[in-house]
Amino acid sequence: MYTKQQELQYFEQGKRFLENESPLETSDVEPLRTIINYADWKYYLQSEPVFSDYEYDLLFKKLLQLETLHPEMITTDSPTQRVAYGLSERFNQAAHLVPMLSLDNTYNAQDLYDWDARCKEFAGTNNIEYCVEPKYDGASISLVYENGKLVRGVTRGDGITGEDITANIRQIRSIPLSANFDAEQIQQIEIRGEVVIHKDVFAAYNAQRAKENLPPLANPRNAASGTLRILNPEEVRKRKLSAILYSISYYTATAPEQTAAKLDTHYNAISRLYQLGFPTPHEEMKRFSAIEDVIAYCQTFEDRRDSLPYEVDGLVIKVNHFELQEKMGMTSHHPRWAVAYKFKARQATATLLQVVFQVGRTGTITPVAKITPTPIGGVMVSSISLFNEDVIREKDLMIGDTVLVERAGDVIPYIVKSLNELRKGTEAPIIFPTHCPDCEQPLEKTEDEAVWRCINISCPSQVIERLIHFCSKDAMDIRGMGEANVKKFYSLGIIKDIPSLFRIDWDSIKNLDGFGAKSINNLQAAITHSKQQPLHRLIFGLGIRHVGETMAKTLAHSVTHINELFDRDAAQLMTLDDIGPKVATSIVDFFSLSENRLQLHELKTLGINLENNLNIAATTQGSLSGKTFLFTGTLQHYKRSEAEAKAEAKGGIIVGSVSSKLNYLVVGAEAGSKLEKAKKLGTVTILTEEAFLKMIEA
Ligand code: AMP
Ligand code: ZN
Repeated sequence: MYTKQQELQYFEQGKRFLENESPLETSDVEPLRTIINYADWKYYLQSEPVFSDYEYDLLFKKLLQLETLHPEMITTDSPTQRVAYGLSERFNQAAHLVPMLSLDNTYNAQDLYDWDARCKEFAGTNNIEYCVEPKYDGASISLVYENGKLVRGVTRGDGITGEDITANIRQIRSIPLSANFDAEQIQQIEIRGEVVIHKDVFAAYNAQRAKENLPPLANPRNAASGTLRILNPEEVRKRKLSAILYSISYYTATAPEQTAAKLDTHYNAISRLYQLGFPTPHEEMKRFSAIEDVIAYCQTFEDRRDSLPYEVDGLVIKVNHFELQEKMGMTSHHPRWAVAYKFKARQATATLLQVVFQVGRTGTITPVAKITPTPIGGVMVSSISLFNEDVIREKDLMIGDTVLVERAGDVIPYIVKSLNELRKGTEAPIIFPTHCPDCEQPLEKTEDEAVWRCINISCPSQVIERLIHFCSKDAMDIRGMGEANVKKFYSLGIIKDIPSLFRIDWDSIKNLDGFGAKSINNLQAAITHSKQQPLHRLIFGLGIRHVGETMAKTLAHSVTHINELFDRDAAQLMTLDDIGPKVATSIVDFFSLSENRLQLHELKTLGINLENNLNIAATTQGSLSGKTFLFTGTLQHYKRSEAEAKAEAKGGIIVGSVSSKLNYLVVGAEAGSKLEKAKKLGTVTILTEEAFLKMIEA
């Protein structure tokens, strides 16, 4: 850990490096490394960044420059060397210095009383102190440091040998590449821990996969262990793994007695690791001398389970004193001095009753398993998405199967596997339909996709989903026209397509249950209001495949009227930001369909805005007329959307990404890759928020 004095010193030194323009010297290498290690520690362990991303990158670059000029100064533990470790074809096997055992499990207070009694017997004393810490639900790892440097990171494997994943371990920024084990006269040390993915990182990753039509990863645990086995460290780095180190399993020291005297308990050993800069369970780690207190802590901790940023599946209780641990020893499976207290299972078995096939907005067919309603982790689960045909095949599912269902924390429920050994022979195969379950048109599947689609654009299910999307908050924002009302009005024939939303026969709604004068008024007002929504909302609302909100903005900003998109070919579209062949083709397909053109014509007659007013304004007036803007980082004075509106009001055009077409990048706090890219391009004017505001006010 760093003393207050060191913290101040490294912080100020860092600031000086940032301000100083004069050339660097070789004597700057070590200070720069220290500052960067300190910044990593602040960021990853304390969650209190001291430098902005931009400043951090600048410091990093300075070090990189120096090392490029003086390659002889590069050391394996330099922060620049995390990624440089290179690719490999496969992982080599590596033996653990001490076998990695599993833990015995307990599930309730009685189990813990029994365990306490056994501990006392084996320890030969009634005076036992216990240390309690979370049982992290990730992938276990074992790290070896020699002479203070990280030399090896290994997966658990069979407990005796695992896979050497050192290159990937080095991508986990909370794991120090070197540490001052010298202070404890330690030469070689093996440390155990768990690699986890924070819930929010996991959710973001799955959201990205969903966009690419890939089935989500089941849970953070699988995601963590899968990521550790990716052969490309660069890719591993992007997945933002975290680690927690919770035990020292072995060490050699020059003065073993002295070291042993300091590292006499598990608690002290972990605290020492924490001081040396390692991520440890220090905050959650508690000591108790009575098993009753251990039990009480276990029970209260379970309630906090969901509020932790990562998954835990229980707590681990360890005898605190190493001397007692040694005396107690181990069985062939697990140490006698430690036990897991498992939280209530978030898994349960259920019967797979049937699979229904749902039609999505873009015609994708999603199989959904209906199971016997089963409570898991406090929620009743009866419906589980199976994503696509491949998932059904991979899991070898049949109707009538007993399936194992898991619902972890924030993760959507999923089927872990089918318990094939329980089959009776009466199970029926799941037959994937060849025709749309709604409109009965034949389904299609392209080579590059795992999903089947109904390509009939008048398919009722798709129409309903499209209407829901059109009215949704991020599209036309027609309040009161949510899923339930869309379905109801559709089934009653009150609406049938997008234009019909603007021709509703209000008299027929007056007679419906639950529609008073007030709600009708509100709905009418919302519909009227939506007619003047900016063009990008309409384009997004149309539900063109692969056209999300950002893409819709790019398209809207490239025209003054939506009709201009009718005749653009793929090549023309691809000159726009971030539009690749797939998106371009989808846009061309959409606008070449006469139904879609007709629909837009109808919308025009109904008074819906099809023009990009801002572009029209931009070409004729406004001090920033035609200039392109992009915002990045957190602004202090305005929300990003407000700032964008201000730029647009002056004729500015908001674009979605950094390219040679960008004129101004407005940079708030913690700006990241966009700033980098803009600097690299060199053609973009970079503005602080203040400079931007001055420009707007001018
Ligand atoms: P099990 O695999 O259920 O037998 O449990 C043993 C595993 O729990 C170990 O191999 C570790 O990967 C994991 N574990 C998670 N947190 C801890 C912890 N705080 N102390 C020890 N083991 C832990
Ligand atoms: Zn259909």
